[in-house]
Amino acid sequence: MSPLVADLKAAVGAEAVLVGQDAVEWGRSGWTRLGAPLAVVRPASTAEVSAVLRLAHGVGQPVVPWGGRTGLVDGAYAEGALALSLDRMNAIEEIDPVAATMRAQAGCVLQRACEAAEAQGLFLPLDLGSRGSATIGGDVSTNAGGNRVLRWGMMRDMVLGLEAVLADGTVVSATSPLIKNNAGYDLKQLFIGSEGTLGVVTRAVLRLRLRPVSENAAFLAVDAFERLPRVLRRLERSLGGTLSAFEVMWPEFYELVTTPPAAGRPALPHGHAYYVLVEAMGADIEADAERFERVLTEALDEGEIADAALAKSGAERAAFWALRDDVVQTARNGPILAFDVSLKIDAMETYVAEVRAALRERWGAAASLVVFGHLGDGNLHLIVGLRELSPEARRAAEEAVYGPLRARAGSISAEHGIGLQKRDYLAWSRSPAELALMRTLKTALDPKGILNPGKVLAPVEV
Ligand code: ZN
Repeated sequence: MSPLVADLKAAVGAEAVLVGQDAVEWGRSGWTRLGAPLAVVRPASTAEVSAVLRLAHGVGQPVVPWGGRTGLVDGAYAEGALALSLDRMNAIEEIDPVAATMRAQAGCVLQRACEAAEAQGLFLPLDLGSRGSATIGGDVSTNAGGNRVLRWGMMRDMVLGLEAVLADGTVVSATSPLIKNNAGYDLKQLFIGSEGTLGVVTRAVLRLRLRPVSENAAFLAVDAFERLPRVLRRLERSLGGTLSAFEVMWPEFYELVTTPPAAGRPALPHGHAYYVLVEAMGADIEADAERFERVLTEALDEGEIADAALAKSGAERAAFWALRDDVVQTARNGPILAFDVSLKIDAMETYVAEVRAALRERWGAAASLVVFGHLGDGNLHLIVGLRELSPEARRAAEEAVYGPLRARAGSISAEHGIGLQKRDYLAWSRSPAELALMRTLKTALDPKGILNPGKVLAPVEV
């Protein structure tokens, strides 16, 4: 046993430190690449996280924080590193129904936090496909987005306070639950979306909302791209601020999730140019339903939408969302590369056409492109299917997707983060001055470079 592992066992208990094959198997997750960690350490308190980091810092040992390990950019890859799992720190410590806040430990699974809020008549609006495994700490560290950003923002917009542990073990407690707090630098922002490279999030105070009582959903067919933003703005305006999702699917996606072997069946016939899942959440069951139907009928009558199917029950609503969530269908015909980009809505149509043309030029019919996303937030997911995934093919596909973004001042990551997978392209979305400031922050907070090294920024030799 290495001296570090012995020290770790002394600090957190022998049963909370796994090594060898146990460490490899403990973390195994469906799709996230994790590597073989030197050890998995499972502290039970902030004090133990601090002790682990102090020990690692002392010997310059890399540490990779682990949440639900459901990321898509290799942010939890821990080959040879200490994997610091927050899974035992999963308590919901307090829900304050008057202030509408929740204090939870980092390892609490998102869905459990949402259910706990609902039980108090409150609402944690973050919603994403991995809700059953993603954790609050991971959602904070990656600034998770998802389906309802349009209305309630990303995780950043829900975090009032944070507790984090720095590389050397220092605990920074910035857990004020105040909505308005301009007393100096907003330190929590350093840890939100920085993917565990500046500190380990151990606790969060989250802003909750009142639980909506009405939920309405519909599938729309729209036959020209320029109508999509018009429909979006019409719904925002006419639904009295209740629009909570506007999820657009290009026809290739819609056909994949509505034909066998997918379990889903078409909500509307095939053959349209675009499909949109819209959702509205409000405070008046009858009036909201009536207005939702009336607004869609008007849009139909005016020819702005080509067809519409209204969910008539909770089960139908769930079936509509199941189509949108059935992303695994995009991998059913062979290997895929998943991209997550952000750009202005009015640049999307030519952007997608340019990516499609670039893929066709290189691979002809051997490449496929499936597009869907949170159009209201300017966020598209592009899935490129290729017959084989060599490193050269991956590189060429990345350039086909990211290249046309540069001219449009888009972002190579809307919500998935940078991790290892997008690091080489960060400069395509960020200026030299921005990158230099990121480097300054990293060096100041983690001078030995032990925190999730190589993620977001390339490691520097020390
Ligand atoms: Zn998404």
